Amino acid sequence: MARIKSIETGHYRIPLSVTLSDSTHGEITAFELITLRVRDTDGAEGVGHSYTVGRNGGAIADILRREVPPLVDGREADDTEAIWQHVWWGLHYGGRGGPTVLALSALDIALWDLKAHRASLPLWRLLGGFDHRVPCYAGGIDLDLPVEALLAQSDENLRKGFRAIKMKVGRPDLASDVARVRAMREHLGDGFPLMADANMKWTVEEAVRAARALTPFDLVWLEEPIIPDDVAGHARIIAAGGVPIAAGENLRTLWEFKNYIAAGAVSYPEPDVTNCGGVTSFMKIARLAEAFNLPVTSHGAHDITVHLLAACPNRSYLEAHGFGLDRYIAHPLELEDGKALAPARPGHGIEFDWQGLARLAA
Ligand SMILES: [Mg+2]
Repeated sequence: MARIKSIETGHYRIPLSVTLSDSTHGEITAFELITLRVRDTDGAEGVGHSYTVGRNGGAIADILRREVPPLVDGREADDTEAIWQHVWWGLHYGGRGGPTVLALSALDIALWDLKAHRASLPLWRLLGGFDHRVPCYAGGIDLDLPVEALLAQSDENLRKGFRAIKMKVGRPDLASDVARVRAMREHLGDGFPLMADANMKWTVEEAVRAARALTPFDLVWLEEPIIPDDVAGHARIIAAGGVPIAAGENLRTLWEFKNYIAAGAVSYPEPDVTNCGGVTSFMKIARLAEAFNLPVTSHGAHDITVHLLAACPNRSYLEAHGFGLDRYIAHPLELEDGKALAPARPGHGIEFDWQGLARLAA
């Protein structure tokens, strides 16, 4: 028995080395990292985090500092499901999504990390253990890159060991998107796994038109064609567009994924462990997808998520996200033959450079 003794929250603003862009969030020059360190009465520690594309991190940090400690202090640290339920319902009226579920995600990740440390197991084995080699793609955030730079970025990703790539679409004119996808397909060759992400840019009919125009380029999937709130619209795009659809980085609960999956509105469910409710929710979503014979992919936080997909027989590709923490962690994600390797270290194995981060405190 070890009980939760303390939790410590950090909030940092991490500058990006290059400005990134997509169709909805515009130019992104920095992201926010919200960290949580949970210590138990035996002195063991687990670490979790969430992130934003640049705003609202203060709300997440405030929930973790103000609301969460009285809900978790003294509770049995291994009881991840009980703590998840207690915090979810404790914050439900003002929460049920938004910053609250991002805060809960960071807490839940920290508790699973702590549990895996206590068990001396890598997280992927604690969660079931399927295959530590996970197919992986480079997630480009590159809507405004000129075509030559887009192709050069792809060459750099190939050099790094990636064997699948995602690019942004959703430019002001569809012809420009089509030209860019064609250039990438010709550059990468037939059969190379290529995805495209519209970041919710289109209406349903625009998305159907785009999907049909992109059909000749054999995309693995088209991601987030429309707003996340339109479940029926997603189902129509799948039925009429002819391209598989990935969605989920803007869904926040198991039940939102259930609505999509049950409606035939998603081909590749794509939860983000840092905003869907943490490891506890991510694994339920992945198992739900398995029951519906769907592959599961992921968004963001690849250093944690590699463990989760390594525990799923229905895993598709892991996204290696553009907001990598490589400069602030001891062991960045390793690739081998296009596969990401879930590390054998106990827990999720992320060791933050706390001194380096302290200089970026928000
Ligand atoms: Mg996306």
